[in-house]
Amino acid sequence: MRLKVSGWDTGLRFSAAHFIPSHDKCSRLHGHDYCIDITVEGSDNGGFIIDFDLLKQHAREVIYKMDHHVLVPSRQTALKHTEKEDSIEVSYNGKKHVFSKEDVFFIDVDVTSSEQMSAFITDKLASKLKDNKNISRLEVCLYEGPGQGACTSRNMND
Ligand SMILES: [Zn+2]
Repeated sequence: MRLKVSGWDTGLRFSAAHFIPSHDKCSRLHGHDYCIDITVEGSDNGGFIIDFDLLKQHAREVIYKMDHHVLVPSRQTALKHTEKEDSIEVSYNGKKHVFSKEDVFFIDVDVTSSEQMSAFITDKLASKLKDNKNISRLEVCLYEGPGQGACTSRNMND
């Protein structure tokens, strides 16, 4: 049994700024309207795999931390960041940005690509669903605007 939630249709969306140091065009600071689709596989537990509202609430808790923030990849070795009292200086490839601390979300990835961000969100959402033992598989697709995105799926019993 499988259920799906479409992010564009149900409001699982967020906006964020990012940059990809190793990429020509995308090394410039720019932003996207992101959305996530979620697919959950599992067995029937009282008529449901999981309540849609609960699933969306968990997903919002994960993605809203990134909403209207600058995403800084904390595992990117080509990037240096220096924390000051209330600001964060980020430098890579001879470029330098200074952001207010409150505007930055450090995301635990090498690159803020759709691929790695979908893996990050899948892991965070999986940990929120770990007590739902009837869920066997989770997939999250992250879209950078309509029509292009990347999906990560994982078994929940591993
Ligand atoms: Zn981008």
